[in-house]
Amino acid sequence: MGLSKTIWAKPAEYIAHQRPENPVMFFAPGVLQDVARRFIDGFPGFVSYAVKANPMEVVIENLATAGLRGFHVGSVAEMRLIRRLAPDAVIHYNNPVRARHEIIAAHELRVKSFAVDSRSELAKLVELLPTQGVEISVRFRLPAPGAEDRAFAKFGADPELAADLLAQVAAAGFTPSLSFHPGTQCTEAAEWERHILAAAEIAQKAGVTIARLNVGGGFPGHRLNGEKPDLKGIFAAIAVSTQSAFGETAPQLVCEPGRGMVAECFTLGTCVRALRDDEHVFLNDGTYGSLDELPLVGLTDRIEVLSPEGQRKNGPARLRVLFGPTCDWVDRLPGAVPLAGDLAEGDYLLFSGLGAYSIATNTRFNGFGDVAIETVLSLK
Ligand SMILES: *Cc1c(COP(=O)(O)O)cnc(C)c1O
Repeated sequence: MGLSKTIWAKPAEYIAHQRPENPVMFFAPGVLQDVARRFIDGFPGFVSYAVKANPMEVVIENLATAGLRGFHVGSVAEMRLIRRLAPDAVIHYNNPVRARHEIIAAHELRVKSFAVDSRSELAKLVELLPTQGVEISVRFRLPAPGAEDRAFAKFGADPELAADLLAQVAAAGFTPSLSFHPGTQCTEAAEWERHILAAAEIAQKAGVTIARLNVGGGFPGHRLNGEKPDLKGIFAAIAVSTQSAFGETAPQLVCEPGRGMVAECFTLGTCVRALRDDEHVFLNDGTYGSLDELPLVGLTDRIEVLSPEGQRKNGPARLRVLFGPTCDWVDRLPGAVPLAGDLAEGDYLLFSGLGAYSIATNTRFNGFGDVAIETVLSLK
């Protein structure tokens, strides 16, 4: 995986000139900076980027250039990455489970904000960190109303334990805060409202005035043509419900988008390796590569077909099942998608909005997954 120095006008131009044999991620720095500014200007608090969604250096650098000052990390390697690329940025270490050596490394790397969701991990922080100027944010979780909670059920104290932990954090002399994550790709503003209300109840039960409330990531990417996410609406709901739930003791707000920040600035270009007996489409990228997440979050329909000359194919659609290149049976995209009926071997499929949890989770399983990164002025 390498970043080429040439800047192309758009993916179609690159494809027509290069006819790439391997998958290509097209990166538009301008789109990333626009989204970053939308968060910085629109969110009613401090914006931190969840590095794991896409830790590429060009992503971190463009975010810093756009004025982003905060980064959420889950590991020591991510802390070092941020300290190298954005030395003065604020780092939040919100992975609630850590080894002792990781806590010590974080302290040495000037990290001053930690999340916690259990008694055992709080005890480690109390033992290893100074209290002065250090924030501990108790991460809580509400029972999910069915949503995309699977990935996040791993973390978060129930409200009763959260109140207990929060009281301990304050008593120990740390700056007490609360945090939650409404579940990734959350399109419902009501989920944030429900959690903000619960945060106020937890703080009240603990008898603690919290300094900050971290409303998580979860901000949705644009996955379906017919459903554009309403970030502004979500920001407004967060501001209003914080005021009404906390009143005079309203905490400062923090958010830490991963997907919502980086999804839109990358488009994946994959080539049709084979159209097996005019039926199944075999791509040169799949669920072990940049499309790793699709079996979990569902197929996107923002897919365009280009001929090898870079011309868009718009023929009457036909439903297709898409397979990745490896010999593994799970390497198949979920469901079926309508694609131009005259789709042919050697055509390219462009998947929009694929910047999050794609490059970061790509494996090289079965000898595939060698993705090139190309910079473009525009993704359209
Ligand atoms: C992964 C993660 C995020 C980012 O989640 P998205 O759904 O990608 O926005 C935010 N906060 C924490 C603590 C995380 O682990």
